[in-house]
Amino acid sequence: MARPPEEGAARFGRILLKLSGEALMGELEYGADPERIKAIAEQVKHVADRGVEVAVVVGGGNIYRGLSGAAEGMDRATGDYMGMLATVLNALALQDALEKAGAVTRTLSAITISEVAEPYIRRRAIRHLERGRVVIFAAGTGNPFFTTDTAAALRALEIHAEAILMAKNGVEGVYSADPRKVEDAEFISSISHREAIERQLQVMDSTALSLCMDNDLPIYVFNMDDEANIDRIVCGERVGTVVSTNG
Ligand code: UDP
Repeated sequence: MARPPEEGAARFGRILLKLSGEALMGELEYGADPERIKAIAEQVKHVADRGVEVAVVVGGGNIYRGLSGAAEGMDRATGDYMGMLATVLNALALQDALEKAGAVTRTLSAITISEVAEPYIRRRAIRHLERGRVVIFAAGTGNPFFTTDTAAALRALEIHAEAILMAKNGVEGVYSADPRKVEDAEFISSISHREAIERQLQVMDSTALSLCMDNDLPIYVFNMDDEANIDRIVCGERVGTVVSTNG
C-alpha cells in the first residue's frame, strides 16, 4: 500500500507536468491504458484541488515517434508531424479522464486542429490556469525535429511555471547510468542542470535541459508508477531527483 502524501499547503502555485506517452501505456505494449490514465487524472485533479495551477504536456511515444518513421525510410519531418498528431490523441484521452474526475480542462494544440482543441495562445493558456482549469498542451512545440520534452521546457517558461515535474516509468529519478541496464547504477537525489548535461544523464533531451538551465527552471524527476508522487512533490516532500541551478 502506497504511503499517503503528507498533508500541508502546496509549495508551488503553478507547475508543468510532463507525461511521456509511455506513462500512459501502463502494462500495454502500445497505446494508452484507460485505467492508468484514470489514475493519473485523479491525481492531477487532487493537486488542482489544492489550488495549484496545473499544465500538462503529453508525449506521443506510446503511439508514434518520428524517428521510427525515419528509420523506415520516411521523411523525418513527416514522421515528426505524425508523432505530434499522436500527442493529440493522448491529450484527448487525458482530457476525457480529467473531466470524468471532475476537473475543468482545456486542450491547447500547437498544430491547428480547431474542431478538437483550441489553438495554442500563450495568454489564453495563462488565463485558463488562473481560472483553475487544467491546461493540456498537445502537439508538442508544433515543429518537427523537436520533442515533447522541449515542449515541456518551452511551455513551462512561457506560462511562468515554477517547476517541471518530469514523470518517469519504473525508475525513481535520475541515476548515474540506466538502472534497467546497469546493475550498480547510482541514484542521484540532486544535481545541477549543467552536470546533468555534461554527464549525459537521462533527465530529458539535451535541447530541453539546456533551455531549463539557461532559464533557471527546476525539474523534479520522479517515478510515475506511484502517481501520488505528483502530490508529494507539490507538497514539498523530497521525492526523486531535483535538477536545479545549484544542484
Ligand atoms: N514531436 C515533434 N515536435 C515536437 C514534439 C514532438 O516533432 O515539438 C514528434 C516527434 O516525432 C516525437 C513524437 O512527436 O518522436 C512524440 O513525442 P515524444 O517522443 O517527445 O513523446 P514521449 O517520448 O514523451 O512519449
